[in-house]
Amino acid sequence: MVRSGGHHPSAGPLNAHAEWLGDPEAFWERQAARLVWEKPWKTPLDAASAPLYRWFPDGMINAAENCLDVHLAEGRGDAPALIFDSPQTGTKDVYTYRRLHQEVVAFAAALDGLAPNADDTVLIFMPAIARTVVAMLACARLGLTHSVVITSVPVSVLRDRIEDARPAIVLTASGGFDGPDATDYQPLLEAALAGAAHHPNHIVVLQRPEAGRWTPAAGRDLDWSGLVAGSATARSRLVHVPSTHPLYLLYTSGSTARPKAVTRDTGGYLTALRWAVQNVFGVGPGDVFWTDSHPGWVMGHSFTVYGALVSGATTIVHEGPQVDTSGSSVFPRIISEYGVSVLFTTPMTLRRMRRASHRHRPFGADGSPLRAVFLASERVEPDLMAWTGEFFDCPVVDNWWQTETGWPIASNCLGSGLLPVKPGSVSRPLPGYRIEVLDDEGRPLPTGEQGHLAVKLPLPPGCLTTLWDDDQRFIDTYLTNFPGYYDTSDAGHIDEDGYLWIAGRTDDIINVGGDSLSGIDVEHVLGRHPAVERCAVVAAPDPFYTQVPVAFVVPRHENFDPANLAHELRGLVDERIGEWARLNRLVFVRTLTYTTSRKIKRSDLRAWLSVGTGLDIVADIGLPGRIS
Ligand code: AMP
Repeated sequence: MVRSGGHHPSAGPLNAHAEWLGDPEAFWERQAARLVWEKPWKTPLDAASAPLYRWFPDGMINAAENCLDVHLAEGRGDAPALIFDSPQTGTKDVYTYRRLHQEVVAFAAALDGLAPNADDTVLIFMPAIARTVVAMLACARLGLTHSVVITSVPVSVLRDRIEDARPAIVLTASGGFDGPDATDYQPLLEAALAGAAHHPNHIVVLQRPEAGRWTPAAGRDLDWSGLVAGSATARSRLVHVPSTHPLYLLYTSGSTARPKAVTRDTGGYLTALRWAVQNVFGVGPGDVFWTDSHPGWVMGHSFTVYGALVSGATTIVHEGPQVDTSGSSVFPRIISEYGVSVLFTTPMTLRRMRRASHRHRPFGADGSPLRAVFLASERVEPDLMAWTGEFFDCPVVDNWWQTETGWPIASNCLGSGLLPVKPGSVSRPLPGYRIEVLDDEGRPLPTGEQGHLAVKLPLPPGCLTTLWDDDQRFIDTYLTNFPGYYDTSDAGHIDEDGYLWIAGRTDDIINVGGDSLSGIDVEHVLGRHPAVERCAVVAAPDPFYTQVPVAFVVPRHENFDPANLAHELRGLVDERIGEWARLNRLVFVRTLTYTTSRKIKRSDLRAWLSVGTGLDIVADIGLPGRIS
């Protein structure tokens, strides 16, 4: 293990940005030097294939070593690394760094016995439990690229992802608590594999007596505990990989039904996380950093797992609903019980808490141990920020990022000193990001004017390096609209103090309570119904979810029962995309309007939603019953 250099804390967020601008590559080299490299890089940034860039391309590194072994070597073996809290199963368990390391080494040895190849992927379909983190880190230890799929996705989405990632091995559990009740995972995985164009060699199953029951298929399925016990004497390899090696794939909403997997490198990602955890979140060894997210979301990958652990902090994995059966939130208990220093969550979660009428201050005379609450994933309304600050009795920090970037693009910085808050703004861009506001032709707009938010290339370390197996699709999707820039597909403006204000998406993505839904994906689903001639889906504003999808459908025949068809179409969306994407309103129209290039004029549909004129309506069907 070689640490290449010392630690240079950044003094103040404005200084950090100026320091980075002064010499961007040197800035990131200083941050990368805080990691352990098997072979330090010689080239900080490879721009030979621009607009594709590679950070630290000739360095060799291992992510699990940086998240675990390093802390043992530095005397943090007895410090808590991970707290697992699962009220439904009555589990509260603390893993020290030593214990987490042991579990990861043991599971990696077991996985290695299945003889995967260096370029194999491993699909992880598991609940929010400690073993999911063990699974991710074991893959990282062996240099195997993982792809975590959230267990609440519909079967068809799981199948698409299996076919796209082509995993050699699937890691799963008999069941888990995605909500208040246990879900069995075997029926879901079997249904996804039935008819799939790819089949893994093995499925490794963690039997959980408290959740689900898995009946093993001979030759295919292996028992997690048996496998670990069987390889107890094996010493797992620690496989150093090039810094550019994909640590993981993470699927995001695309503008087509084809799955789109963000591909994350190893060395650049850890470099960015190490900087962000310390400077943005103000977290380091001794702190309990709770990112309230399933490890499989981007927030979970970046901060529950890799960010917290690479920084030597304590992370929390919580299984089960955020609001318990008595209607109270689990947050105050977890925060008090484990002394959480920094909480990272979403506006949607806070809206649910507020709705569950938590109007009082939940912490006793000792007050809240929190230093700050961070929020991301959608625009946060100023009154929710105010409520959150009062409820948790600490500063509230909004930050803006995307699955693609892997860490915040703009944020106030707790670690290097909070700037004055402007409610509604995500504060200033972080080092690594030169944001410009462009007009439709790609020309920079003056201060205060709203336009496309674009990041000048190269993207900083930690951002996606490509889309899985498809550089051209990466270039076409993100780098072509504005040559020389990454197009965030968000609109916004920068004010005279350099603060960023996010207005929303410029593409077809609908932000449903923080989750990105592609309107075009919904259109593909609706278009499969034989009674649908044409359709278009746009976002309607919603006070609770921020945005909800509304479908405009041209029926194929004149004689149809609108209420019945609306029910069937909604059912299709529930089944193919998930209930979170549920349609509550379907408007049947005689015709849609088109641009000269025969594209549906979505602006006319949005205009109709706000003023109620301009379309020839057949029926407007409201279907209450959105789940929350
Ligand atoms: P996702 O990749 O699914 O995490 O969604 C990323 C999108 O969520 C961004 O492009 C924004 O449109 C939105 N978003 C994330 N964080 C914020 C924020 N703090 N304020 C406003 N919008 C946000």
